Amino acid sequence: MFSYTLEATEGSARAGTLSTPHGDVPTPAFMPVGTQGTVKTLVPEEVEALGARMVLANTYHLYLRPGEGVVRELGGLHDFMRWRGPILTDSGGFQVFSLAAIRRIHEDGVDFQSHIDGSKHTFTPESVMEVQRALGADVIMAFDECPPGGCDRRTAEAACDRTLSWLARCKTRFEALEQEADGLHQALFPVLQGNVYDDLRRSHAERTMALGRWKGYGIGGLSVGEAKEDMWRTLELLDGVLPPDRPRYLMGVGYPDDLLEAVARGCDMFDCVAPTRNARHGTAWTSAEGQVNLKAARFKRDTAALDATCDCYTCSRYDRAYLRHLVVASEWLAMRLLSIHNLRFLVRLGEEARERIGQGTFERWRVEWLERFRNERSSQ
Ligand SMILES: [Zn+2]
Repeated sequence: MFSYTLEATEGSARAGTLSTPHGDVPTPAFMPVGTQGTVKTLVPEEVEALGARMVLANTYHLYLRPGEGVVRELGGLHDFMRWRGPILTDSGGFQVFSLAAIRRIHEDGVDFQSHIDGSKHTFTPESVMEVQRALGADVIMAFDECPPGGCDRRTAEAACDRTLSWLARCKTRFEALEQEADGLHQALFPVLQGNVYDDLRRSHAERTMALGRWKGYGIGGLSVGEAKEDMWRTLELLDGVLPPDRPRYLMGVGYPDDLLEAVARGCDMFDCVAPTRNARHGTAWTSAEGQVNLKAARFKRDTAALDATCDCYTCSRYDRAYLRHLVVASEWLAMRLLSIHNLRFLVRLGEEARERIGQGTFERWRVEWLERFRNERSSQ
């Protein structure tokens, strides 16, 4: 039901295919985020048309609203949101630590208050497996403790130990649920922690690998405020430790330049809310000018496409002058059109990286691409 085939490598960069019960995902792959069971403002057919194969949904949000029981009754998340392709759900841990009010972490789990109505809840490794089974995603994530970026070593070490003991409990509950003859097949990915402490990163990865034959690995605790060099060093370290025949999902990372840097260091799967969040703020990525803000006066009479090299719906139909007008007038269509473009930009980056790795021209292309993207962004 689940497999990962490595098809080509260039240095540490990898091209492969993740097979799931709802279809194949060619990697490197950017996964659009559908927090509430929707990629904001787009219908599933539009997400499909962008070339996205797998989407992500958030356990914390769907647990609170409408509730995982409702989703299960209505046929599971695929039927509920009318998405035919593969889905990944996160464990909810990150949102509990970042969104929920008053949380208490203890050995059994985390007590928290809903950010919606203040109601009290507890997530445990077991309950998080049950919620993700009810939602019915293809890939589900283990419940982990993600300490804040820049935390001291002692805090990072305690979070590693707790994440490991929770992982063992996730696995036990997951395997029991897999015995239920409901026809649902899921893959459980553990989450690697250790902040930016090399020895902790290494030992946590090794101890995690010793706990089971995992179908893939989530790399957590990065892009939480640490220096970029620390993130790249950590990924290089993990590249030397993790088994090559399993996909590596770098959680929450997905700015275009970060995505390419991470692909070069052996990462395969990515997600990030930036494409749709930036769209809400009127910003877009372009291959010729880096990141642009459509509110800028210089676009007022600009009849060029947003990105001349982009094949998305927005770029093939509209000019910058009209997009700027929609952004300045705070029209909903601005958010839709810029979301379509920004998402396609990242999906296409994954597609092109994959093609280049296959041809053995990835590294040269990456260096040129990054130089152009960064120069132009800093010149804004
Ligand atoms: Zn476009």
